[in-house]
Amino acid sequence: MRFLRRNTPDLPLDKVADVLVEEYGIEGDLTSFESERDQNVRVDTVERSYLFKVCNADEDEAVIDLQIQALRHIEQVDSAVPVPRAFPTLSGAATGRVLSRDGTSHTVRLMSFLDGVVAGSRPEFDTPAFRRNTGTTLARLDSALRGFFHPAARQDHPWDMSRAPRLLEYTRHIGNDSARRNVVSILERVRDHTLPACASLRHQVIHQDAHTWNLVVDPEDPAEISGIIDFGDMVHGPLINELAVAAYLSGRADPSPETLVDIVAGYDSVMPLERGDVEVLFDLVLGRMAMDLAIVEARAALFSDESSYDSDEGLSERIENALEAASDVENSLRRVLGFPSSASGVSTSELRADRVTSLGRHSPHFYAEPLHVASAEGMWIHGADGRKYLDFYNNVPTVGHTNPHVTNAISRQQATLNTNTRYLYSTVVEYAQRLTATLDHGLDVCLFVNSGSEANDVASQIVKHRTGADGLLIMAGAYHGMTEAVSEMSDGEFMPRSPNVAAITVPDGFRHAPVAPARAADEAESAIGRIKEAGHELAGFFIDPAMTSSGIPNVPHGFIDAIAGAVRGHGGLVVSDEVQAGFGRTGVMWGHERERFVPDIVTIGKPVGNGQPLGVVVTRREILDGFMEQTELFSTFGGNPVSCAAGLAVLDVIENEGLVANSAAVGQYLKDSLVQLAETRSLIGDVRGSGLLVGLELVGNRDNKTPAASETALLVEVMREAGVLVGIAGPNRSTLKLRPPLIARPRHVDIFIEALDSSLGEVERQRG
Ligand code: PMP
Repeated sequence: MRFLRRNTPDLPLDKVADVLVEEYGIEGDLTSFESERDQNVRVDTVERSYLFKVCNADEDEAVIDLQIQALRHIEQVDSAVPVPRAFPTLSGAATGRVLSRDGTSHTVRLMSFLDGVVAGSRPEFDTPAFRRNTGTTLARLDSALRGFFHPAARQDHPWDMSRAPRLLEYTRHIGNDSARRNVVSILERVRDHTLPACASLRHQVIHQDAHTWNLVVDPEDPAEISGIIDFGDMVHGPLINELAVAAYLSGRADPSPETLVDIVAGYDSVMPLERGDVEVLFDLVLGRMAMDLAIVEARAALFSDESSYDSDEGLSERIENALEAASDVENSLRRVLGFPSSASGVSTSELRADRVTSLGRHSPHFYAEPLHVASAEGMWIHGADGRKYLDFYNNVPTVGHTNPHVTNAISRQQATLNTNTRYLYSTVVEYAQRLTATLDHGLDVCLFVNSGSEANDVASQIVKHRTGADGLLIMAGAYHGMTEAVSEMSDGEFMPRSPNVAAITVPDGFRHAPVAPARAADEAESAIGRIKEAGHELAGFFIDPAMTSSGIPNVPHGFIDAIAGAVRGHGGLVVSDEVQAGFGRTGVMWGHERERFVPDIVTIGKPVGNGQPLGVVVTRREILDGFMEQTELFSTFGGNPVSCAAGLAVLDVIENEGLVANSAAVGQYLKDSLVQLAETRSLIGDVRGSGLLVGLELVGNRDNKTPAASETALLVEVMREAGVLVGIAGPNRSTLKLRPPLIARPRHVDIFIEALDSSLGEVERQRG
């Protein structure tokens, strides 16, 4: 292999002096110093110092030109990047020429000499600050090289990380058995896993040799990098290879693998890394160390006549240590760079125990065996167990898990400005305009908070403030949130209602005849009567138009409107809690639109930020103005630019992808498929809901419709085993709550139905 011979030119210095005068018109003191392939001579003139290079005769002319053009390009783009300047000959040529004693013709070139010392020669300089600056300086170099290309960047270079696997055939020269085994297994992994993964990462021309012996520092200020030298290993390759070489441990004074985290963090602060970069980085670091050992040992065996340039002293142990530290380093890297930690690196049982220690034993899980989640995309949640779970439960990631448009909007806004509404900025106004444009009935001003609970809490303050009363009407089984005030008007097991709150019975069209709207008005009157009997006047009515936590009943049209009429008759305000039903969930944009009643206030949460905390109270101008005049209510995070950017992006996706219509169409397909499945699965008692909010009630017996609570609980667990996530709702805990992201397509429904079918079969079997 050509690359293994050093074959360094060896011109006498008086000859060098002649060439310098002839080609460059300079004279000075000459000092030789070592290089891997070229003859290097330092030239000190009165004005300045130069580096004069007599290039290896084997060196490709195009490769020399590549180096010179790269230096010129860097100088043009960012002259502050500390690299040598390339000087032309007197005739303006990029290089000159000289004949050696044996008649071989060599290319020569002249560069500025970078003052300072080579960092590798001073182990005490290898500090965290030095390593961080190594990263930032390299990132500036790569940033400057981004737009550069040269045909010779495709050179076949011995140190090219992308060609590392060809060194496998030279590993036979590694004498030590265990070192050889390590090198072989590292290089095989690079060949089979790492390089294929690199194929889709960012590529560009990179320096690819920025280890400590090619970094120059000022001994007075050794943390700063005053020079990056030796552009001889430049190739076009994966950008991340730059870091793999800079961070590799062979040349480091401190061999502990954690030291590379400093370099990578510095680099990332200038040129942000991508997730894929981080995934391959440590394999490449190991790969570079393995290359080092293979090349040094092969060179020693093949060319025993040559003096060794590199030493591999201690390298096998460093490789051994690095292999052992790999997963710790990868985790540190993710943490330092702000990438979520890899779930596969943490044992589920340990995490579970740690969670009890840190969050207490009552922090609830959905499943008996908690689902340890790693990442998610679109309709799918990826478990730490390596399985993919179809998400048919979560209504928060309404436009899909990790939706790229939302993710980008959040990170771009975060990188620009994040503050609060006491300052003037456009994002919150733009979002309020876009949001209110989807609402009628004069609902055109917004108050921003951070959750559904907060939105309802503020709404309850508004209705109480406006009416001077504190009586509240809700539906039985309702959930409106977790603040103290709001939990009083939630009708749950753990939330005792206070005497100023009364609940209306939820219409159960499955077990009883449909309720006529007139009866709803009667029910409302008697509930309001109970409030008055307890010594309170009516302030308002809170209604989730889909009655989600009450089991997603089919509500007769006119039912809610009849209650709203009664409430208004007593001077109360109507609050449509759209935390569940809003944003296209039921196949129309708003729940009150479907149920045809007019709210005075709309509260919004959950889906609007696709997971970014965002809650909104939308009402009419006179209502908000009257309230704010007295209270000046302010929420620090409410309406912050990042949450509003998320909100805008969610609206973009809903509009651009027609997700409201999709919710209606796919929801209908889901209901039809469930009705069809009910023909063969007798546990299914009722299919209810609209759009992509569907309730599936299970019964022990279709004749007497006994709620099948234990079967429902079992079904949720069995479906998780079948790879589909669902939840439970309803007063009897016998209704499956189906609320997939609005991007669900018929093919997802088919996967869901297949899993449901087999899971129902399993539940039937287990029930006997
Ligand atoms: N209202 C309704 C109808 C809800 O379903 C919920 C949450 N499940 C809330 C309000 C409270 O929202 P958050 O949990 O964001 O405070």
